[in-house]
Amino acid sequence: MLPRLHFDNAFVRELPADAETGPRLREVRGALHSPVSPTPVSAPRLIAHSAEMAETLGFDEDQVKSQLFADVFGGNALLTGMQPFAANYGGHQFGHWAGQLGDGRAISLGEVINAAGQRWELQLKGAGPTPYSRSADGRAVLRSSIREFLCSEAMHHLGVPTTRALSLIATGEDVVRDMFYDGHPAAEKGAIVCRVAPSFIRFGNFELPAARGETALLRQLIDFTIRRDFPELRGEGESLRADWFGEICARTARMIAHWMRVGFVHGVMNTDNMSILGLTIDYGPYGWIDNFDPDWTPNTTDRQHRRYRFGQQPQVAHWNLACLAQALAPAFDSIEPLQAGLQRHAEAYLAADRANIAAKLGLLECRDDDVALMQGLHELMATAEIDMTIFFRTLSDSSAADLVPYFFSAAFYDETKRQQATPALQDWLARYRRRLADDAQSAEQRRTRMRAANPRYVLRNWLAQQAIDKANDGDESEIHALLEVMRRPYDDQPGNERYAQRRPDWARNRAGCSMLSCSS
Ligand code: AMP
Ligand code: MG
Repeated sequence: MLPRLHFDNAFVRELPADAETGPRLREVRGALHSPVSPTPVSAPRLIAHSAEMAETLGFDEDQVKSQLFADVFGGNALLTGMQPFAANYGGHQFGHWAGQLGDGRAISLGEVINAAGQRWELQLKGAGPTPYSRSADGRAVLRSSIREFLCSEAMHHLGVPTTRALSLIATGEDVVRDMFYDGHPAAEKGAIVCRVAPSFIRFGNFELPAARGETALLRQLIDFTIRRDFPELRGEGESLRADWFGEICARTARMIAHWMRVGFVHGVMNTDNMSILGLTIDYGPYGWIDNFDPDWTPNTTDRQHRRYRFGQQPQVAHWNLACLAQALAPAFDSIEPLQAGLQRHAEAYLAADRANIAAKLGLLECRDDDVALMQGLHELMATAEIDMTIFFRTLSDSSAADLVPYFFSAAFYDETKRQQATPALQDWLARYRRRLADDAQSAEQRRTRMRAANPRYVLRNWLAQQAIDKANDGDESEIHALLEVMRRPYDDQPGNERYAQRRPDWARNRAGCSMLSCSS
């Protein structure tokens, strides 16, 4: 038996529904969601689950291991109170308006109110066709599902705002994908992730009715979102809407600053992949920075223009917020509050970036000079190909006497570049040592603060790929091992050192490690 969950399906209850039920492909106008059920799969089986998320929702371990759990979260059964639907939204993809997109393979099951009174929407990804599947099958492959499952939870434990993942379920069915869009389709194992968030509303949910001139619908969605997802905001009318947009801008800025702090590259920052709550959403061809490189993107689809490269994420967020502002404009009497919101984004990002600098370098505050200090380090790290995570963690562990180039050898990928960079690194470390002397704190205080901002473990691309390779061969143990390590990313974990290593040579140009396509 599963616990009796309390559902409060506000989204489908309060917002206009598509009159048609089922997955027939269609343009859906005048409605924000379409009723559609998951398509059953042949053999749903639990591969992994998040113990924290299960507990938050009220499942005990026995219940999670039951066949009914696999049936429900594999799309073969519905619990009392579930009302499955796909949301209707549009979006700007790679800078261009793409029209109606919608949940092409995500099906929301309902909104749970848990014992603590929190709202958690449950959503299956890969649960079969919806009216928004366009030419695709509504399914997801095991490799991308492992990546979404592990990264959602890893990000959460890193303190980065994110959608969560409850479960990873094997479907027992194959899915055909042409991974590199080069005419070599192949059958791969299929899977379904149940992802969880207080809200899955995206920028694109507002953009679509706005683009169609459905202003009443747009207003309805705005009022609903403020009421359900931002209950802490007070006031009314235009000033409430202005506060709300400002809050979205500030949250988005903070989210991006977290990405920059931990070295996360989303890879597909289209406006349909931007959460209104400022959560990291839609884990596709994302990647983690190994050697520090602001120009790096894991997404092969974006190889040419690198629109979504690591260093450009703050600017892209701003561009996306400007799209949202434009979509919201019909619900505002003047555009000033929207401009003020965008300004708030710029300021919030600047503040968060400075907080990152102070935290990552272990300074009591970030002064103007410290911005240049960090900039100098970034340039050094980029030219010398220094591993971002290892460098900052080593810096976090160092005493003043350790601030010598030799101490950082493990962070280099290239011996020649290491030797060439040694004088510059020596200079930078000397500059840093002088700066530390200005701060009234003990070395131990500094190290403790730095270790809380500089993770030892991140979900490096090659680690996830190893778990995927093994799982495709029938050994799922590495998924569990990674999930466990990533629960405590800021702790040194004796015995788990190999998960903190720099990228091995085999992974440098390996598909899935440094190159990912959108095919998933
Ligand atoms: P993404 O770039 O992954 O956010 O996907 C963009 C759009 O394509 C979204 O509307 C997805 O729902 C849709 N989509 C991606 N993969 C599939 C699939 N296998 N089946 C149906 N729709 C998909
Ligand atoms: Mg998406």
